[in-house]
Amino acid sequence: MAAWSRIGRCAQLSLSQSLSRIVSEGGGGASPAEAASAMRGAALSRGRGHHASSLHSLAFPGLAGRSACAGGHLLQTPPSSRGIGTTPAMLHPASAAAVAAELSDAETREPEAAPAPPPRMPSLGPTKPAEKPRLVVLGTGWAACRLLKDVDTSAYDVVCVSPRNHMVFTPLLASTCVGTLEFRSVVEPVSRIQSALATHPGSYFFLANCTGVDTKAHEVYCTAAAAGDGLPSDPYHFKIAYDKLVIASGAEPLTFNIKGVKENAIFLREVSHAQEIRRKLLTNLMLSENPGLSEEEKARLLHCVVVGGGPTGVEFSGELSDFIMRDVRERYAHVKDHVKVTLIEANEILSSFDVGLRQYATNHLSKYGVKLVRGIVKEVKPTEITLSDGTLVPYGLLVWSTGVGPSEFVKSLDLPKSPGGRIGVDEWLRVPSAPDVFALGDCAGFLEQTGKPVLPALAQVAEREGRYLARLLGKVAAQGGSKAHCAGKANLGEPFVYKHIGSMASVGRYKALVDLRENKDAKGVSMAGFLSWVMWRSAYLTRVVSWRNRFYVAVNWATTLVFGRDNTRIG
Ligand SMILES: Cc1cc2nc3c(=O)[nH]c(=O)nc-3n(C[C@H](O)[C@H](O)[C@H](O)COP(=O)(O)OP(=O)(O)OC[C@H]3O[C@@H](n4cnc5c(N)ncnc54)[C@H](O)[C@@H]3O)c2cc1C
Repeated sequence: MAAWSRIGRCAQLSLSQSLSRIVSEGGGGASPAEAASAMRGAALSRGRGHHASSLHSLAFPGLAGRSACAGGHLLQTPPSSRGIGTTPAMLHPASAAAVAAELSDAETREPEAAPAPPPRMPSLGPTKPAEKPRLVVLGTGWAACRLLKDVDTSAYDVVCVSPRNHMVFTPLLASTCVGTLEFRSVVEPVSRIQSALATHPGSYFFLANCTGVDTKAHEVYCTAAAAGDGLPSDPYHFKIAYDKLVIASGAEPLTFNIKGVKENAIFLREVSHAQEIRRKLLTNLMLSENPGLSEEEKARLLHCVVVGGGPTGVEFSGELSDFIMRDVRERYAHVKDHVKVTLIEANEILSSFDVGLRQYATNHLSKYGVKLVRGIVKEVKPTEITLSDGTLVPYGLLVWSTGVGPSEFVKSLDLPKSPGGRIGVDEWLRVPSAPDVFALGDCAGFLEQTGKPVLPALAQVAEREGRYLARLLGKVAAQGGSKAHCAGKANLGEPFVYKHIGSMASVGRYKALVDLRENKDAKGVSMAGFLSWVMWRSAYLTRVVSWRNRFYVAVNWATTLVFGRDNTRIG
């Protein structure tokens, strides 16, 4: 709440400052009437094809035309230098509507009529020369959180925008679906990762989705993620001015536009997904015990289908089979023989792993009751999947894990794109045609002209990019380039280089795969079995974000080992 009232105050402050500048300096000492006429002219010029940011520049010349670089010097730059023309800015629909309303007003108004106030959107205005530069970070995933953890908060005020206030330790998410781990054990609030977000006066966390980026005006448009009684409108839009912007908004599950997937399948990317899977699994187990159900209906309810044989699909199938072998048999003895797991994959499972490991995983999963089906899903209905060969697969729980692709937000941004549609970056993770904008993690990929491949959508890539960028931003700040438009000549140091350290996947029943080869064709250590499982657990225990979570995870594993998994259905 405090943050919101601070935004409100900032909005009022920046608006009144802007208006007083219109009077005192707008158009070089123009009278209020001339300033008003300039605003109308700007609105009309947009109607003739100009972008809304030109309205901003003309109406608020004091804001648009100034920037403060190192040493607190005020540089008077022409409004057009605020951004590079090759990256058209994006206008938020809400402000577009407001501008359109003003336009129609302006067209019908008499020239002498008093101007309508400019469209108001609550905002965190541009930083003043004496203030610390503002680093705006979109997302609270692997990339953003690593950056937030390492960034020098004495050099930057940080503002984080994300629809969730925590980071998810995704490699252990599958374990929460069946109760091996508790949900709390795999999440870390972002304010614990970077305490400045909660304590520094110029730093904030906003629970919101970014909906647009205006690279010319150096602003991002946001919509509050949770409508609440405390907000003046629903949806609630606001904007934030940035000196540096880091886009780390991740990716979205790929559905290949297959009919019915979005409506009927559950993805496995967020804690809310894991909660939904757990609830549905336990509900189906209990429903199937009701009297009067046919054998066929019981079999359907208790048929868990996983689509996608990548590491996530395989790990989830392994966890499920473990749960069934160990816990369901004991606690749902009436229906235990009906519970089945099917893993559907169009090609080979774990295609990025060594061939020997793939074979091991196939044998292991089959031995512990996971049916592997080679097939392509054509359509998903609420209780049945149709494969391309016409086979019908009835199901009670469907988990979809077929990889990720660019999100709608990333697709909507008018920024250069890498092969595959991610935000295109150079070797320093900069978006070339948008000054002061960086992108990293699953939402970013090297541009084709860098000659580098788009890196895999992995936590280890995202995390290392976050660490690299925190260091780069520190270097930029040390050279006085941290304010908007000031990093032009800064020496950024070495470009980002990624070296793969290997992959791991657990397959259930205390077994895992460890593939330490640098890439698919390289030579190196690859092993499977109990020792690999010990390595898998130790590696992830040490990688968990905080000591608090490390403790939770260790306790959860010990509790599950001694008492079995918790099968309480809550909610
Ligand atoms: C179940 C599972 C298991 C995995 N296991 C492994 C593994 O073992 N090893 C490995 O290397 N990788 C693994 N991965 C992949 C890894 O999690 C991702 O590559 C990694 O999360 C990418 O990090 P990111 O920061 O780019 O995106 P994410 O971690 O996805 O974070 C994106 C963030 O952006 C936010 N966001 C989205 N849209 C907006 C918006 N419009 N405005 C503001 N914020 C937004 C999201 O809420 C989120 O906070 C796994 C993934 C899953 C789902």
